[in-house]
Amino acid sequence: MPRPLLALAALTLLLRAAPARADVPSGCATKDVTAAFGDFLRTGKMPPDTGRWLYDKKAQYIAPWKAFDNVHFVGICWVSAWLITSPKGHILIDTLYDPFVDTLLDNIRKVGADPRDIKVVLITHGHFDHAAGAAKLKPLLPRARFVMTETGWREGAESAAASQTTPRPWTMLAKDVVAKEGDTFTAGGVTVRVFETPGHTFGTASYAYDVMDGKTVEHAVTVGGLGLNAIKDASQVEAYLASVKKLRALITSADHPVRVHLTTHPFSNGMFEAAAGLKTRKPGEPHPLVNQPGILKQLDGLEASAKDRLEIERAKK
Ligand SMILES: [Zn+2]
Repeated sequence: MPRPLLALAALTLLLRAAPARADVPSGCATKDVTAAFGDFLRTGKMPPDTGRWLYDKKAQYIAPWKAFDNVHFVGICWVSAWLITSPKGHILIDTLYDPFVDTLLDNIRKVGADPRDIKVVLITHGHFDHAAGAAKLKPLLPRARFVMTETGWREGAESAAASQTTPRPWTMLAKDVVAKEGDTFTAGGVTVRVFETPGHTFGTASYAYDVMDGKTVEHAVTVGGLGLNAIKDASQVEAYLASVKKLRALITSADHPVRVHLTTHPFSNGMFEAAAGLKTRKPGEPHPLVNQPGILKQLDGLEASAKDRLEIERAKK
C-alpha cells in the first residue's frame, strides 16, 4: 500500500479505536438534549463534555419568551425559570445558577418586568440548577421572600456543602421562608399553591397557579422534580410514586383540572417544540401548551421508570 494510504488506514483505525465522544447538543432540541443526558441518566455520572456544556453561556442561551399573557420563560436551554407577572408584583419560580444569574435578570428585564417588583421566589428543590442562584439574587431582589420546603432548605445546604470539593462550588442562601403543603403565596394578582411532592429529592415542591390566555384562565402546574438521578433508597422511590399519584389527582380533579405543565426542564416534555407553535398561532386556535393528555402521558412515563427503579432498589437489600 502506498505510504499516504497506509497512513490514512492507520489513522482510520486509530479513530475507530478512540472512545466515542459524548454528544454535546448543538442546539436545545429535545432529542439532542435528551441524548446528551443519556449517559448521566443511565449511570448517574455526568460525561465531562456535557458537564462543560451546562456552564456554556452561549450554548445555553435562549431568548426569553411569553408562554401565557402572565407567564414568561426566563430560563436557559436545559433548565427553566418562570416569571409569573401581575401589575402589582411578580413571582419567580427557580433561580438557575452562575454564570446564568445575570442572564436570568436580563431576561426578566427583556420581558418588561422590573426585578425589584418580584415579591416571591419559589424554589422547587435544592439542586444547583434550581437553587444556586438564590444567594446572588437575594440582595438584588429586595422585596422578595425566598420560599422552599423545610427539607428543601436542608437539602440545598447539603448539596452546596458537597459542592465545595468539586470544580464548581456554590453557596446556598440561608433559610428564608418555609413552604408547607397547601400554603399559598400571593404577589399582586398572582397566587401560587404549594404541593409537597417528595421523590426527585425528599424536599421537592410543585407549584400550581392560574395562567391567562386572552380571556381564558387555565390551571397550570410546575412539577418540582422529574428525574430519578438522585435516588438514595427504595423509600425515596415509594415517595416518588406517591407524589406522581398526588399530581395525577390534582391534574384530573373535576373542579380544577390542570391542562398546562410549565416544566422545570424543557426537554422533559418537548416544551420548546410545542412552544414553537405560539409563533404561528392565529386568533381562535388552541394554545399549544394546553395539553392535559400530554401531562398525563408524561406522568405515565415517570411512573413506569419509578416502578422499574423500585424493583432495583428493593433488590439491593
Ligand atoms: Zn434536581
